[in-house]
Amino acid sequence: MSVKKIVVIPGDGIGTEITDTAQRVLDTVAKKSNLNLEFQNAFAGGAAIDVYGVPLPEETLSAVRACDAVLLGAVGGPKWDKVSPDIRPEKAILGLRKALGLYANLRPIRVSEVLTDYSPLKNEIVAGVDVLIVRELTGGIYFGDKCESETVNGVEQAWDREIYTVPEITRIVRVACEAAAKRRGQVTSVDKANVLASSRLWRRVVDQAVKEYAGIEVSHMYVDNCAMQMVLAPKKFDVIVTSNLFGDILSDEAAVITGSIGMLPSASIGDGPSLYEPIHGSAPDIAGQGLANPIGTILSAAMLLRFSLNEEAAATRIEQAVDQVLAQGYRTADLYRDGLTKVSTEEMGRLVEKYI
Ligand code: NAD
Repeated sequence: MSVKKIVVIPGDGIGTEITDTAQRVLDTVAKKSNLNLEFQNAFAGGAAIDVYGVPLPEETLSAVRACDAVLLGAVGGPKWDKVSPDIRPEKAILGLRKALGLYANLRPIRVSEVLTDYSPLKNEIVAGVDVLIVRELTGGIYFGDKCESETVNGVEQAWDREIYTVPEITRIVRVACEAAAKRRGQVTSVDKANVLASSRLWRRVVDQAVKEYAGIEVSHMYVDNCAMQMVLAPKKFDVIVTSNLFGDILSDEAAVITGSIGMLPSASIGDGPSLYEPIHGSAPDIAGQGLANPIGTILSAAMLLRFSLNEEAAATRIEQAVDQVLAQGYRTADLYRDGLTKVSTEEMGRLVEKYI
């Protein structure tokens, strides 16, 4: 079994607690599944500013370029609120995306049966939700030309340009189809083709690209309808693929219906090493107290096994262990209620290891 190198970037705030916990879970599953994982720690964010004076030092960049996958905690915090804007901790995330060419963001939204009460939606609507949002991450209106202000015929205006190329759309659709092949095989492509030219190209390219994948069913949905369906009938979705702008909004909408920010993992995928991180920030308000929920990071580690190392069985093993721990009533402080058992960040990790 060849060695797989994983760079762990704890970052700031709760980052160290949650990545330590997830790394131990990876170690345990590696032993049980006969995998050879090697870990290397690297600095990013505020922690890197303290040591190197910049949020993303060259040492970290060379480590991530030479590894098989990156596991990140979170960056940022009040300690670095006053640093100069060009070295803000959050710049590390954009820098990593750029350095690794991470063009696809994957956010699975699952609502386990035992957590439906935390959702702002009715139990019967959210129970069993299992959707994967695949968002294009390096193109579209966020990266197009823009004009902050110009005056035309005496009237001030501003504009942003949305451009998508055929290769950009094709590669993101491929990511969605490959993910769907490991799930229920249904891809919903979300656009605004009734209004936008870039969406009409998007739709045409989706129909073409999906032909490479036998057994994948594709349908198209307008973004406004998708936003409504996400709260009316989220269970109908398997994989959603969409542009940078629409994906930004839809993935946050989908996250909020779970009612538990600490539980959600994500992956950012490119042609080289991919990056895995929980969707939440560094939660400085609870850092260092054992209060952080490590499950978003543990499930990010499961995604790392699935997408970067192709170890589906080991990934599922972690996910099932998490479900079992939750079903036994164990909760970190964020999700604790009367009648359940409150555990610390580290204890939650140990329980997951036990069920693996
Ligand atoms: P946040 O996600 O860090 O925290 C929002 C709230 O959720 C807080 O009350 C926090 O205690 C709670 N929370 C978050 N994760 C939790 C967990 N795992 N377990 C229990 N509770 C949890 O968002 P914020 O407060 O807006 O930002 C804090 C810092 O994180 C800022 O510096 C921000 O820039 C940074 N940030 C970083 C990332 C990233 O690294 N990718 C993402 C978002 C925010």
